[in-house]
Amino acid sequence: MNKIYDYLIIGAGPAGMAGAIEASKAALSVLVLDQASSAGGQIYRNLGQTKPQQAFVLGNDYLAGRPLLAEFMAANCDYKPQAQVWHIETHEQGFIVSALINGESTTYVASHLLLAHGAMERPMAIPGWHKPGVMTAGAGQILLKSSGLLPKEVILAGSGPLLLLLAQQYRAGGVTIKALLDTTPKANYWRALPWLVAGLTTPKQLIKGLWLTLAQRIKVPYITGVSDLQITGEHSACGVRYTVAGTVHNIACEVIMLHQGLISETQMGQLLGCSQRWSDVKQCWHTQVGAAGQTSVAKIQVAGDAGAVGGGYVAQLQGRIAGLTRAHNAGKIQTRQSKVRLIWLKLRVKQLNWAQGLVERLYQPAKWLSKPSGCTIVCRCEQVSAATITSIASAGCAGVNQLKGFTRAGMGPCQGRQCGLNMGYLVANAQNRPMSKVQPLSVRPPLSPISLGQLAKGTDW
Ligand SMILES: Cc1cc2nc3c(=O)[nH]c(=O)nc-3n(C[C@H](O)[C@H](O)[C@H](O)COP(=O)(O)OP(=O)(O)OC[C@H]3O[C@@H](n4cnc5c(N)ncnc54)[C@H](O)[C@@H]3O)c2cc1C
Repeated sequence: MNKIYDYLIIGAGPAGMAGAIEASKAALSVLVLDQASSAGGQIYRNLGQTKPQQAFVLGNDYLAGRPLLAEFMAANCDYKPQAQVWHIETHEQGFIVSALINGESTTYVASHLLLAHGAMERPMAIPGWHKPGVMTAGAGQILLKSSGLLPKEVILAGSGPLLLLLAQQYRAGGVTIKALLDTTPKANYWRALPWLVAGLTTPKQLIKGLWLTLAQRIKVPYITGVSDLQITGEHSACGVRYTVAGTVHNIACEVIMLHQGLISETQMGQLLGCSQRWSDVKQCWHTQVGAAGQTSVAKIQVAGDAGAVGGGYVAQLQGRIAGLTRAHNAGKIQTRQSKVRLIWLKLRVKQLNWAQGLVERLYQPAKWLSKPSGCTIVCRCEQVSAATITSIASAGCAGVNQLKGFTRAGMGPCQGRQCGLNMGYLVANAQNRPMSKVQPLSVRPPLSPISLGQLAKGTDW
């Protein structure tokens, strides 16, 4: 019979690592599964193996993850890298978690879960976004962190801190940035202004953000007020076309990186029946999470970007809160000191989340990005266009799940991760409904592709 873990954590980013450290310190049996080949998550990807030249390009904030990584690697917990979780189901003992490891499906059992699987980049469905030569800024950064790969020249387009950070890192690596096309609507600056008060409560972060923005504006061809962005080139990207103040411009380049902020990954939470909520400010669905990481389903906690995007430090604090709370509830620690620590951690997260309100309003995606049209591909896996989805939605289709049946959009290997949100926008636009009333795509296993052979080779509970 399989071992039953007290705490199974999905994700070894700042949230998952911190949760594992706290829970294992309290003598709970902890298992951490992560699909990446080493711990660190998105922010500290490959930190343990990084070469000095890469570290120089990635900057000090990247290296700041070393103490957390070292604490995690020394923690008394089981950690399985390259373990991609593709299914979770409830069981009388708690939960059965299936992960693909070395080409085989392996099954683990745990009484409690911590979902710390992070966020993804908001899909930016513009004409030509599916062509070779186009990728997300996050993908570009993954290539840099994991293999030290840099493009010779690039166009960066979109909005958000990660785009600016990548521009900074690429400059340090000697990449020619042909243009940084900023799609942030001007109105966002006014909308965010009252939130400057919140931002001032974290002055260090605020100064860092201002510096990052200013440095790119000075050092790269930085174009603001960009709209109607599209990729040019017949079979692969050969440039971009965009509009500024009514004038159309073209720039040639074979590598284009798009970014439009981050959205929480909700598929695991949805699969497990955790309540979901639409946020007008964040413009995405997210799993409803309480101050101690608790969800609407007993014994399931969420921490970090998986609940709401708040950055690496908030993720780490939330992971600590989740791990400590689990240890408290299990009766493993009950000291006054740890209770006070929990209160302090929760207050700090509250304050940092308040400050995050500034970033959320400043980088809210432009409205035109939620209105893909014509032959723009929305579902890349099944090649379904915006026009097809809009015509079916206008004919009275009940929602995205019915759309999926009619068009196959959302049925491909990404399981709707890349198209679900934009399908929702198109239904909301066509039927004049608020997004909160357009239910997201329902989730079914497998969460990621798995072959029958891999399934057959695997262990069963
Ligand atoms: C592509 C990308 C790059 C980013 N780069 C930066 C950066 O350079 N600097 C910065 O400040 N912020 C960056 N961020 C923001 C970053 O998400 C947070 O700052 C921070 O990493 C969040 O921590 P977390 O622990 O919540 O999640 P993450 O750090 O995202 O960690 C989640 C972990 O879960 C694992 N995982 C996900 N799904 C599964 C699954 N099905 N099975 C098993 N494991 C799974 C992932 O491999 C990952 O290691 C980036 C975000 C993204 C999406």
